[in-house]
Amino acid sequence: MKYYVGIDLGGTNIAAGVVDETGKIICKYSRKTNIHQPFEDLVRDIAETGKEVVRQAGMTMEDITSVGMGSPSCINPKNNLLVFANNLGWSNVPLPAVLQSHFDVPVYVRNDADCAALGEVIAGAARNYENAIMITLGTGVGGGVILNRRIFSGCDHMGGELGHTKLIYHGVRCTCGQYGCLESYTSATALIRETKEAMAEHPESLLHQLVDGDLSRVEAKTVFDAAHQNDETALAVVDQYIDYLAAGLSSFVSIFRPDVLIIGGGISWQGDYLLDPLNEKLKGYIFSYREIGGPKAIRAELGNDAGIIGAAMLELSEEE
Ligand SMILES: [Zn+2]
Repeated sequence: MKYYVGIDLGGTNIAAGVVDETGKIICKYSRKTNIHQPFEDLVRDIAETGKEVVRQAGMTMEDITSVGMGSPSCINPKNNLLVFANNLGWSNVPLPAVLQSHFDVPVYVRNDADCAALGEVIAGAARNYENAIMITLGTGVGGGVILNRRIFSGCDHMGGELGHTKLIYHGVRCTCGQYGCLESYTSATALIRETKEAMAEHPESLLHQLVDGDLSRVEAKTVFDAAHQNDETALAVVDQYIDYLAAGLSSFVSIFRPDVLIIGGGISWQGDYLLDPLNEKLKGYIFSYREIGGPKAIRAELGNDAGIIGAAMLELSEEE
């Protein structure tokens, strides 16, 4: 049996796991991400987290085949510099090289959303499938494309940015600087904005009571809570939100025709309340659905473990 180390670098925690070749996590360990320290010190922390989980698994680095890390950023393979990591305040730092200097085994660094998608295909919700699209509905919208059980990341590994496909021509400004991206309509941040806009128009809505009239207390979950109680304003916001999501996903189906669509992130915790209407709407949007059917949206299963497993399996995904 071969063993790998997978690391998920987040703005809050560095989570690491020893993962076997079947995608099973043997041991997990995490520590806080100290984003205020110099770059080299943070990378040392990351490496130490990886080494510590190996110790805790009762192994040594001799037992480990490779180390993989998912990072909230892109790596430019032309100069091997990390392009931009918003949460960490980094841009153009030699993350792969500095991380590699701490290990004798090969180190792979990829986008964290790609790693999560790979993890779900290897050991999670899409383990019975070869081709999957995953989107993560969080503060932003992460995207991962898995084709033949490998990450598809396009030229310079800059592809698969599904959250930044255009949904509305000249629409709402996105965090990326463009306008009308899927992210600006389907992220948790977008849902909060949409909820507040509906509240301003509907003073009678239950939504106001749920936050005691304090708009700063509106979360992504708030509108679902009110919808569960059949508040009309909330039901309309949720319906519109799911409609945006279905429209965006149907484009990915037209391009990639995956076996399955995986929905992750905080909003996916709504479960069937989100997925049932989403799948109904997809039937109306997917190309040729009536003639040949189409992929279903399913909920991600692994939570944060997906990123650890996918990162650990990066070497297998890269092999030719
Ligand atoms: Zn964008």
